[in-house]
Amino acid sequence: MVASTLVGMLCAHLLCFSGMFLLISRRLPGNRMGMDVFAVGNLLLAGAYILQLVEGGPAWSAMSVVNHCLTLAAPIAYVLGAMRFFGHQVRLWRPLIVFCVVYGVAQWWVQAQSGPEARYAMLAASATLLFFAMTVTVLYGGRTFAKDLFGEMIFFALLIGGICVLNALKFLKIVDGGLDALHMDSRFQMIFYIYMSTLATIVPPSIVWLVLRRLTDSLRNMAARDPLTDLFNRRGLSDALTQYFNARNAAPVYLLELDVDHFKRINDSHGHQAGDEVIRHVANLLRATVRRGDLTGRFGGEEFVAIILEADVADVMQLAERLRVSVEEQPINVAGVDKPLRCTVTIGVSSRFHGAQGLDEALRQADSALYRGKAAGRNRVELATAPHGLPAADIELAGAHS
Ligand code: GH3
Ligand code: MG
Ligand code: MG
Repeated sequence: MVASTLVGMLCAHLLCFSGMFLLISRRLPGNRMGMDVFAVGNLLLAGAYILQLVEGGPAWSAMSVVNHCLTLAAPIAYVLGAMRFFGHQVRLWRPLIVFCVVYGVAQWWVQAQSGPEARYAMLAASATLLFFAMTVTVLYGGRTFAKDLFGEMIFFALLIGGICVLNALKFLKIVDGGLDALHMDSRFQMIFYIYMSTLATIVPPSIVWLVLRRLTDSLRNMAARDPLTDLFNRRGLSDALTQYFNARNAAPVYLLELDVDHFKRINDSHGHQAGDEVIRHVANLLRATVRRGDLTGRFGGEEFVAIILEADVADVMQLAERLRVSVEEQPINVAGVDKPLRCTVTIGVSSRFHGAQGLDEALRQADSALYRGKAAGRNRVELATAPHGLPAADIELAGAHS
């Protein structure tokens, strides 16, 4: 009686959360993050437990064969849901149906060859292996493809590891004591149902938390980045710079401002689309030229900004020159334009600054250096100068030694 109540509650949880997953997935058109597949997983598991309630205990019937297939198909659906969450467009129904047919035939064969205990032992062993593989994959994920969710991955690994251990114990019990161990009211089965009910309560909100995290992260990203190039916008760059300077021992930085020369001509001769291609191309070259950790942004039009960390003025001028040359030398293939396009850039370099509040002044310095570069014929790199004509970086170094 207690066991039936527990299993009944478990089914109610699974069905409620299946409905909730389905509702969430309908609010996420385009990328459902596996929510629809998790709904199917819950439905399959609820189906398995409903069949178990109807049957009451171990038996050899079509219902029991279906029950065993659903019991294993549910975690497979969760795996497929997790793969979709991490961006893999895997199929759902075909693998599940193929699995159920193969496992159904395997059950029939094992029952005929070795009897009912072997069929139940096969279920416990298969579940143990499946959950073990899931636990290892989740732990691996926390260190590789889901690094940002490390804490969550450890939590899931512990929960899944628990079901793995319980299934391994169930296997040993069947091998040792036969099917008596599987009676719904046996102590072991009670512990099993309590653990499964706990999981059915904890896991769905945890999955919803993962979706929430991904959504808020992507909203934050959208607010901080330029959609055409995926470089920071002004707000994103300013936030990233504040974060950098908030870290202990943050060294002063330089700012580069880069503007494409005669960009209006590209737009006028080849169209706005071609202009956008050129902007993306320059953004890619900028990303490829700076070092890991340097900050890159586009503040509108064909103007780009890079913040160069932990470098001296010679390094920064070399980097700016490398960037200028690579833009000049690399042809740009644009769809619908016969010949590859070419363009050049003018780059203004600010003096060294420390603290996010220095950003506006650095932009002003780089802008006036850029303007000088434009006036001097374009396609060149100019370093900001102090009022009396010396390069600003030299003034600052002189100041540091006085
Ligand atoms: P200069 O060498 O002096 O920089 O000349 P320029 O023609 O590049 O002049 P300017 O920098 O003022 O040109 C900016 C042009 O960029 C004007 C505007 O039509 C165009 N533009 C601004 N935003 C975008 C955009 O998102 N895509 C495209 N294709 N063009 C843009
Ligand atoms: Mg320009
Ligand atoms: Mg411009």
